[in-house]
Amino acid sequence: MARYTGSVCRLCRREGKKLFLKGERCYSDKCAVTRRASVPGQHGKARKKVSEYGTQLRAKQTAKRYYGVLESQFAEYFNMAERRAGVAGENLLRILESRLDNIVYRAGYASSRKEARQLVGHGHFTVNGKRVDIASYLCKAGDVIAVCDKSKSSEKIKAIVESCGARPVPQWLDADKEKLQVKVVNLPNREDIDLDVEEHLIVELYSK
Ligand code: SF4
Repeated sequence: MARYTGSVCRLCRREGKKLFLKGERCYSDKCAVTRRASVPGQHGKARKKVSEYGTQLRAKQTAKRYYGVLESQFAEYFNMAERRAGVAGENLLRILESRLDNIVYRAGYASSRKEARQLVGHGHFTVNGKRVDIASYLCKAGDVIAVCDKSKSSEKIKAIVESCGARPVPQWLDADKEKLQVKVVNLPNREDIDLDVEEHLIVELYSK
């Protein structure tokens, strides 16, 4: 499966905001956006007028990078969002939030979505009692995601859960840290999603 292998901090600097791609480091003063906020590259410090297309593109790239999704899959999610009832931009974010790797991260069972993707890929999680190792699996309201029995004694999982303990779990998820499971109470509304992006710009970009 194709994936981005370059510096993830560079992606944050390109978007000019924290995308929280590196776990604990993102909350420390070692964060590259905190230390060096300019756009990477030789002309990064130059002030440029951004076109309408440029603004829309940045919104799409921000969402894509935040969730660690590649271009083709992101476009597929957009098509799916458009076919659903309601506002396409909000539907898109709801679909992205319902990915299994995102829920594992949101529930505090991984320090970043990248780590969540790895843990899911290595078969550490079940959905409604069945092992699922597909990070892009889309969860529904009522689904219960749990650390599989074999992995519950893993020191690595215990250490991750402990280190993520202070991170708040969104209210649309009901996480039980004792049982190492999380229930999707409902899929989130726009106000439940803390992504700093104007999703209508993504809709405008794809509507061209
Ligand atoms: Fe982005 Fe985290 Fe790197 Fe900061 S430390 S630039 S938030 S990935």
